[in-house]
Amino acid sequence: MRDTELTTAQEMVDFLALTIQDGLTPPCCMTGRRSSDNIPLGDVQPGDEPEAWVHPSAAHDSDQFGHCRCCGSSVLYRVEDLDSQGLCEEHKGEFDCDEEEQKDWDDLVEYLTKDS
Ligand SMILES: [Zn+2]
Repeated sequence: MRDTELTTAQEMVDFLALTIQDGLTPPCCMTGRRSSDNIPLGDVQPGDEPEAWVHPSAAHDSDQFGHCRCCGSSVLYRVEDLDSQGLCEEHKGEFDCDEEEQKDWDDLVEYLTKDS
């Protein structure tokens, strides 16, 4: 009898812990599933609340979600938040010519054309 009570109490504690954990986990923005496996959306800094959570089963949908080429596969983005190069808002333009590079090109063009 005593063993049964203990088992029951332990099960109750586990159940409550799971319930509390699930209750604190925001639901997936696609499926509504509450799970501690849910992935925060975007590059979330420690202490920040992500704008949304995505259940892993929904995150695999490449029509909806993707990864920034710079941030890597650990950060999940909405496809609409990535540009045509597959870069997030923060890394947008990362592969464009920077100003200095552009100036070098301008100098070269000037050099090549100055005698003509
Ligand atoms: Zn990025």
